[in-house]
Amino acid sequence: MGKVVDRFISYSRIDTQSDENSDSCPSTTSQLDLATILKEEMEAMGLDEVTLDDNGYLMATLPSNMQKELPVIGFIAHMDTSPEMSGKNVNPQIVKNYDGKDITLNKSKNIVLSPDDFQDLKKYSGHDLITTDGTTLLGADDKAGIAEIITAIEYLINEPGIEHGKIRIGFTPDEEIGRGADMFDITTFGADFAYTVDGGEEGELEYENFNAAMAVVDIEGRNVHPGTAKNQMINSIHLANEFNAMLPTQERPEHTEKYEGFFHLIDIKGKVEKSRIRYLIRDHDSKKFKEKKTLLRNITSFMNEKYGKKRVKLNIKDQYLNMRDIITEHYHVVELAEKAMIQAGVKPLVRPIRGGTDGARLSYMGLPCPNIFTGGHNFHGRFEFIPVKSMINAVNTIINIIKLIPVTY
Ligand SMILES: [Zn+2]
Repeated sequence: MGKVVDRFISYSRIDTQSDENSDSCPSTTSQLDLATILKEEMEAMGLDEVTLDDNGYLMATLPSNMQKELPVIGFIAHMDTSPEMSGKNVNPQIVKNYDGKDITLNKSKNIVLSPDDFQDLKKYSGHDLITTDGTTLLGADDKAGIAEIITAIEYLINEPGIEHGKIRIGFTPDEEIGRGADMFDITTFGADFAYTVDGGEEGELEYENFNAAMAVVDIEGRNVHPGTAKNQMINSIHLANEFNAMLPTQERPEHTEKYEGFFHLIDIKGKVEKSRIRYLIRDHDSKKFKEKKTLLRNITSFMNEKYGKKRVKLNIKDQYLNMRDIITEHYHVVELAEKAMIQAGVKPLVRPIRGGTDGARLSYMGLPCPNIFTGGHNFHGRFEFIPVKSMINAVNTIINIIKLIPVTY
């Protein structure tokens, strides 16, 4: 089981950051570096049907060792890391037997992971933790998922006495930029249902996620010499601020939780002449999701009436939908995971994802796909960490799901 840690650390050192400004698939070729290593690793383990397609989707099969007709189940994780924080030169630190106090991630830069800032840390007193060195993200999202899936499959290969059906494995690129499912061929994958192993804290089991869209607001100003600017200059940066100020302050990620949606301002770039604002729009409730988009349209109309000349252009692109409607028709998939967790000594935490996963899109494409935990915390930033025990429990959960199939179906 120590192997899951070694695997995770070796994958985390490979920079696989995705890039939303790239149109190619995968968005960055570095993701193929990891894909190639994983392909070789799975071939060496003796898995069947190991394929890496041109778009960077890696699939493999653990064949059934039973006569009985059983559903084919899949396990999916993504290879890329978030564009929000560097994933280059990741240097994981192992904190043995955590003492419950501040963890100095980086002495020279004075970066501290503190239980005062991150309450969840308190649960892991006495545990071994894997952290960053404070300069990058860790990439447990979702390289922990990859390491856990491979380790579970390796266990089954080494224990041929355990009976199981056919298992499919899928590792995808570009999940973090919302494209992980774009080129996922569910026919080739051929599973009846699947799990993404892409959740956070130990026990997480999720089949509800946000409805998601991205909004880009382009604002055109008019630049003239500031000395003669009166009644002539239109400073697009001020318009951008005005636009942003019309969104409800309480509907920001930092002020919302559970089923509350938000507008997430991800960046403002601006000069007098031209500015661009980008938002992520998120809501579990499809009605409220629509209302959020309508509000942005109304603000755009208001600004254009006020400043004329269609200075403000709004472009909204839907990203994914809440998978709840699909999964509730196949609720046995959720119950199976719950049972597997309980058998692994893990308390299932069924709660809505405040984000999305590949699984949401895949569910709409016809592959019901809830999400289970990796064990990681504080994804997408320098304070990301993962307890070793949670990784081991994730491996056991995957093994238990596979073991439960022949007795359930
Ligand atoms: Zn992820």
